Order: sequence, then C-alpha cells, then structure tokens
Amino acid sequence: MMIRFAILPLLLALNFSMCKRQENVSEGSQPASASPPAPAAGTAGGAPSAAPVAASPKITKPVVDQTAQVIIFCYHRLVDKIRYPGTEITPAAFEAEMKQLKDAGITVISMQDLLAWKRGEKNIPPRCAVITFDDGWKSQYEVGWPIMKKFGYPFTMFIYTEGVRGGSLGGGEAITWEQLADMRDNGVDIQAHTATHQDLREGHNIMLAAPGGKRTRTKLTGPPYEEWLQKEVVGCKQLLEQRLGIKVNCFAVPFGNYNEHVKEIARNAGYEAMFTVYGQPITFTSPLDSIGRYAIEANKPKVFVDAVKMIGTSSGGAAAVAEVGAANLSTQPADGETVRTALPLIKANLSGVGAIEPGSVQMRVSGLGVVPVSYDPKTGTVSYQVTQKLRENSCTVIVSAKSEGKKVEAHWTFGIDAAAAGAPALAPAKPAPTPAATTKK
Ligand SMILES: [Zn+2]
Repeated sequence: MMIRFAILPLLLALNFSMCKRQENVSEGSQPASASPPAPAAGTAGGAPSAAPVAASPKITKPVVDQTAQVIIFCYHRLVDKIRYPGTEITPAAFEAEMKQLKDAGITVISMQDLLAWKRGEKNIPPRCAVITFDDGWKSQYEVGWPIMKKFGYPFTMFIYTEGVRGGSLGGGEAITWEQLADMRDNGVDIQAHTATHQDLREGHNIMLAAPGGKRTRTKLTGPPYEEWLQKEVVGCKQLLEQRLGIKVNCFAVPFGNYNEHVKEIARNAGYEAMFTVYGQPITFTSPLDSIGRYAIEANKPKVFVDAVKMIGTSSGGAAAVAEVGAANLSTQPADGETVRTALPLIKANLSGVGAIEPGSVQMRVSGLGVVPVSYDPKTGTVSYQVTQKLRENSCTVIVSAKSEGKKVEAHWTFGIDAAAAGAPALAPAKPAPTPAATTKK
C-alpha cells in the first residue's frame, strides 16, 4: 500500500466519505477501486495499476485505551482444609478475593478480551483482572466455577492433558473431560498447560512413563528431547482442540520454566500468548510470550493484596498520557509502511480520539522536531507536508493532543525507500513495476 502523491487529492476526497467506520475489504491484493473512474488524465489506456491502490485508511478498529492495565491471577485447588498452601485456597478466601476485585473497581475480563485488546481490536476498562485456574482439578469445576458464576466472571482453565481424569497423571481429584466439555459449553475458556506438566527446558530432570507404566527420572537432550517437547507443547494443544472442538491459543508454562527455544516451539505451534507465574501488571506493550500471572497461595495473601494495589492506585500522580494506536488514526504513511519519497505528506485522523482541543495538536517528526501542522477540526485531520528531505531510512512521528483535559499521544514509524527517495519527490504516479512492499510489523 504505497501512497502515490498524484492521487492525493482523490484520497483526500475519499477520506471525507470514509470517516465513518466501515469494513475495509482491501486487506488483500485486490485493489478495491471504490472510486468511480475519474476522468483519466492522460492515460486513456487505463492501466490497471493506475487505479488507486487500496490506500484506503484503515479505521475498522476501535480506539483502544493503551493505558489500561490488567492483572492475571492463577489459582489451583479450592479446598476447605489446606494441606498444600502453595497450591490451595479455601473457597471462602477465594470468594473474598473475587469480591475484593469488584470492590476495588477492577473489572474481570476474559482472556480472549485481553488478547483482543492487545491486538488493538477491543477496548477494555482501565483496570482489569483475568482469572485462571491451572492443572484441571475437580474442585475448580465443583467449587470455583459456581463462585465465578455468582460474580458473573469469565475465566480460563489451563489444562495439562495427562492430568485429566483417565490420563496417566489424572487421579481422583482431577477434572474429567465431561466436566471440561460442560465448562466449554458454558463459555469457559480452556487452554493448554502441556501434556505432563514438567520443566520444558532441555536437559532438565523429568519423569518419563515407561511402556509398562512405570515412571523413571531422566534427562533428555537432542532429538529425543525435541520429540518430547513437541508432545508437551504441540500435542497438548492438538489433543485439547480435538477432544473439545475448541481453538487453543494460550499456553501456560509449568512452573514458569522456559527459554527462547520453548517459546519458539510454542509460537510455531500457533500459540498467541504464553504465560508464566511471575506476576506483574500487564500493559498494552507487555510482550505476549511471557505474560506474568500472580499465583495465589493460601499462606501468602499479600500477593493478592499487592497485585490489586499495583493497578488500584495507578491513576494518581503525574498527568496520564493515553497512548493511541497509530492504526486507529488512519495514519499516512501507515505504521510499518515504506514510502518512495523523502518528502512525504504525513497525516493522521484524530476524530476517533474524542473532542480535541484545536490549539493542542502537535506533531514531532524524527530528524525535524516539532513541525508546523495544519489541523482541520471538522475532519479531525492533522497533516504536515515534509519540505526538508528526511535523511534516515525510517521516520518516527509522534502526534499529541489534548482531549478532555487529558493528553493523548500516538507514535508510528514508516520507512523511506532510499533508492526511490533520491528521485524527484513529487514525481507523477508512474505505475511501479511492483507495488512498494508494506512491511508488516
Ligand atoms: Zn500447573
């Protein structure tokens, strides 16, 4: 999707008609020739590539609040008599914690909503929590679920498949496949936690079940390790998906023990997010391959209290700056795009951000600093025609403005094709042999 300057007037005209959110169908290569064929100036032949090449601004996504924060809790068994405080909690204590979230104004959201927010697809409230249960215990079904229903909270189950009843590690306290299916039918999110719940790093002690069922302690390296790792990471996902007819996109690492190789295998398996047990507030920019969860233990109630405090008091202090995703501002050039001129027109549409105080709009361009922008309050468009050649092969733009007393800010970066940039900047839109590649982020 390159910008051709000769068609800018047309694009500008299009912009007015497109400022309502609408489906952008031009994701693929199909040039969505939305415009009526304008009287072709000169090129009567009407070469196909002269059509406006799908430069339509992408405004299908809502503006998500990038200042929101999420804490994720990890629970295990719910029992009245605590014997293993590291992984157990009483139902009463659990229920009290669920209530505390409500009382603290923290919204419990689903894992899939968290991920949709991270993708910039869905907004979430400013302070959220996600509840997860690990390992697949019967008490999660029998005790935890009814409490969650009482609050109307969504939650996620992280299951290791051999630990489900009937599996080689699924004892009498384990959840059954039927119970999992019941949860699935009622909207509970079910995700992966390996096959046998062990340290996934190469060369670490693990237990392997011998053909006779006897379990032996061993360490695996090389090809046998890789084969085993596949079963743990990929096989678990496949089994859950096949057995329950679901899509699994989350992977909780047992004990939080992993490394780059494990991450890579998980990514290749199609997991969108990986979870550890190193609790921390999740922000919009937290990497998805190491999302920390707070593991709640019966004898460490402070972990819960502190986690709530971490996001509960974040609104005090310095003036907050709300980060707005560049994708939501229909920026030109787009984030990650490569343009063929060192003198681009830079544009963003702030109409989705809210009421903007006109005098507050500012644009910074790397290599240039603050530039004199023009801002059209009617369309919410802020623009600047670069007049001094950009020297680097990438350019970062920061647009900021005040909206309802709050500062909002968007950053994005586009590339400059050095070879093409040497050419006259405002050259006519000669059909390029191949459309400039748009780098995906
Ligand atoms: Zn576990």
